[in-house]
Amino acid sequence: MQYENEARVFFCAKSENESFARMFTAIFLAQFDPTVSEMTDIKMAVSEAVTNAIIHGYESQEGNVELYCAYEKQRIYIEVADQGKGISDITQAREPLYTSKPEIERSGMGFTIMETFMDKVHVESEIGKGTRIFMEKNLVKE
Ligand code: ATP
Ligand code: MG
Repeated sequence: MQYENEARVFFCAKSENESFARMFTAIFLAQFDPTVSEMTDIKMAVSEAVTNAIIHGYESQEGNVELYCAYEKQRIYIEVADQGKGISDITQAREPLYTSKPEIERSGMGFTIMETFMDKVHVESEIGKGTRIFMEKNLVKE
């Protein structure tokens, strides 16, 4: 084990599982006594990454989403990964208001939300292989 504590789950890429991903994250986080806003921020970021994996990564094709949560020295580490279509231009994808799906009324704010609510967001992606989002956030000491 790399970290003080960690948990990993795989689930079907269905929007019904977005709330499962939020709950899983919340239950893992609860043991570290986060503030209400830390809890809300991290759940929100996870939610955006998981929604992206489902609607952009797999585009209603079947697949699995991986969610990994870890903790070490007051810091939370999250990874959300899919083996879907991948992102061709990561810099463009991360721009506020950029969306490849304006027709289904996405606003292009998912990455901006992740960056706003987490301390660090790193994206690795390969066309045809999938995408992995790495996020980190420090929890304030009470
Ligand atoms: P919103 O999140 O506001 O509903 P959005 O999902 O389009 O809209 P972002 O979450 O910021 O906006 O993502 C920007 C773009 O990055 C997406 O439109 C999509 O083209 C690409 N993208 C994001 N995540 C993935 C992924 N897991 N696989 C493939 N493409 C992705
Ligand atoms: Mg999004």
